[in-house]
Amino acid sequence: MLNYSSWIEIDLKQFKKNIKTIRANIKKVRFCLCVKANAYGHGIIEIARAAQSEKVDYLAVASLLEGIKLREAKIKMPILVLGTFHENQIKDLIDNDLEITISSFFKARLLKEYCKKMGKKCKVHLKVDTGMRRIGVKVETAFSLYNYLKEDKNFSLKGIFSHFACADIKDHPMNAIQIKIFEKFLKKIKPSKSIICHMTNTAALCNFKHDFYDMVRLGALPFGCYSKDLPKRFSDIKSIFSVKSKVSYFKVVEKDQGISYGHSFITKKPIRIVTIPIGYGDGYSRALSNIGEVLIRGRKFPIIGTICMDQFMVNIDNREAFIGDEVVLIGRQENQEISINKIAKLCKTISYEILCSFNERLPRVYIN
Ligand SMILES: *Cc1c(COP(=O)(O)O)cnc(C)c1O
Repeated sequence: MLNYSSWIEIDLKQFKKNIKTIRANIKKVRFCLCVKANAYGHGIIEIARAAQSEKVDYLAVASLLEGIKLREAKIKMPILVLGTFHENQIKDLIDNDLEITISSFFKARLLKEYCKKMGKKCKVHLKVDTGMRRIGVKVETAFSLYNYLKEDKNFSLKGIFSHFACADIKDHPMNAIQIKIFEKFLKKIKPSKSIICHMTNTAALCNFKHDFYDMVRLGALPFGCYSKDLPKRFSDIKSIFSVKSKVSYFKVVEKDQGISYGHSFITKKPIRIVTIPIGYGDGYSRALSNIGEVLIRGRKFPIIGTICMDQFMVNIDNREAFIGDEVVLIGRQENQEISINKIAKLCKTISYEILCSFNERLPRVYIN
């Protein structure tokens, strides 16, 4: 069917199911889907289109450039740019109707100057730092910055938000501290109903029973790649990301022969090996050399030798495999699965980084 050598498969049908499951749990709270970093590697445009058709309320991106990409693809949803901005980006942020994160007085003044001069209005969200210490103003400053934004007609204050630092560690004392700081701030300013307050990410939604405020901001959960076991209410959520290839070469190697660069694997007996045409140049980590596994004909086989830029070798021992056989690097085949979390563990990282590491070289195929 496909004439690709290697590719990524995205299950949009399951993605829509994941969105429905989340919706059923958050009820009337707004749903903001984080599509930064090419939608966690899933493809920003296709994912945004699916989200738009499922009536997700908001999209969040990291930067101006990601926002422009969405607007160029005619995505009409509200888009929040989570990161900071530079003065020379203000025009494009406003012209593309992107909602801007305000995390300092300095940037708020730059925005105001621009809007005043050009006779424009800009949509903003105030970022409060409650413990992440990345961007955002301290609560002490947030109070006056809030008033500054609210009172100026150049600003349309759409939201107030903060971000958890340790939400994936359920009992971490910082979680309660951050919630308390955020809630105390909200209590003090009593924002009007039209202002969207938001703080909940995937880890917080899975781990805490507290209020979700007015919106949740989720990436890992809708993509089904959260690194911990999901609570029962989200047990229908599944990963939608698979990496597949096809056997490209077959050979028999004698005993005591080295395989691949540096001969980091030496055969102990004659074995059959197959070559798979994908490598670290596609984003399949070289850290998986000699420790990773792939699925062929419904069975797990070990990667042997060093993973190269475009290819690697697999030991099929004395079993059969043929050129053209489907190889699953991440995902399911028959009743076997190689999960993103398993790969992340082997690479000593988290699922998020594995997803982001696959680049444009691999075509993405969308299953509807
Ligand atoms: C990426 C991001 C999120 C989403 O995090 P998940 O763990 O994927 O749900 C939420 N808020 C901010 C500020 C982010 O950068």
